[in-house]
Amino acid sequence: KKILIVFGTRPEAIKMAPLVKEFQKFDAVFETRVCVTAQHREMLDQVLDFFEITPDYDLDLMKPNQNLYGLTGDIIIAMKAVMEDFNPDYVFVHGDTTTTMSTSLAAYYNQSKLCHVEAGLRTHNKWSPFPEEMNRQITGRLADYHFAPTATSKENLLKENCSEASILITGNTVIDALFQSLDKVTSRPSSFIQNFSEALGEREMILVTGHRRENHGAGFIRICEALKTIAQQQPHVTIVYPVHLNPKVLKPVNAILGKIDNIKLIEPLAYQDFIWMMHRSKLIITDSGGVQEEAPSLGKPVLVMRDTTERPEAVDAGTVILVGTDVQKIVDETMRLLTDSEQYDRMSALHNPYGDGNACKRIVEFIEKTKGK
Ligand code: UDP
Repeated sequence: KKILIVFGTRPEAIKMAPLVKEFQKFDAVFETRVCVTAQHREMLDQVLDFFEITPDYDLDLMKPNQNLYGLTGDIIIAMKAVMEDFNPDYVFVHGDTTTTMSTSLAAYYNQSKLCHVEAGLRTHNKWSPFPEEMNRQITGRLADYHFAPTATSKENLLKENCSEASILITGNTVIDALFQSLDKVTSRPSSFIQNFSEALGEREMILVTGHRRENHGAGFIRICEALKTIAQQQPHVTIVYPVHLNPKVLKPVNAILGKIDNIKLIEPLAYQDFIWMMHRSKLIITDSGGVQEEAPSLGKPVLVMRDTTERPEAVDAGTVILVGTDVQKIVDETMRLLTDSEQYDRMSALHNPYGDGNACKRIVEFIEKTKGK
């Protein structure tokens, strides 16, 4: 059976890497090829290096000032050559990016079986997040097989008339990636981490990430004001913020938080260094999807700077609190977790609703039993 696995951004690479490895274990049954669109270049390459994956097709499509029209068209056209060269039985895509949606159409044109990993996440608002919600809805409509991380995501797909037999609940592959990397990360920290850890000493640390389009503008200004207040009220705590390279994020963050002693603004971290940071942190403040899924497996409470979420499981389980971008709410909930040890212990001991690290095994076993193209 011929398997083509396609991705383009850092989070997709992290979440698809363990699937590539799992398919490669069975090379007598599966011929597996990897295609990257390189929608993110540097951040993608770092993950490929860490997982030791060499793409068979590298479309290298990242361009300065890329817009959605150009990127969508470029991917579909470039994918035609890949489809003609390999003619896969199955095409695997992940989540909700422009790479995902455009590749899904290309797979449909080639009449390959389309397999959607991290299927069924929905906000049911086509404008939020934009364009991710529409990307995942279109991909869901085109997919033959849906690998849903949770029962909630399966429910969403059933409501859209996907057949029961086409859906498998697997857990999220991000937990597979995390468990497969943890040993390496903690036993052999990079020199950057060794130096950082020494400088940090025994201080408590809060880890922050933020990049979402919906928070650009006023949202980021409020987020930064909240972080500034926390830093001032808790001088014994260090806030570490690997800042996303998008100028809409970099500019307000540097302007408001650039000169505060106990806030360390650093460049986006390599995946293994980021895992170390999560592991070392007391709590995490983020608007990232993947981080919300990873953190409960490390016992870290998460404050999510969004008003709506396509990941309600974490909120329901109590591993995550939605704080939006309201200054007071971010400050209050952070203070509560820093000072109320009962609340902190309760949150950090909760079970991770996103899986057990065996998602990829379940996916490969499922595909083994299906008929190819
Ligand atoms: N991550 C990383 N370096 C960083 C910040 C995050 O490697 O400096 C990883 C993190 O472990 C998670 C993924 O990137 O697996 C999340 O990516 P992002 O927040 O960009 O996207 P989202 O999850 O919101 O789609």
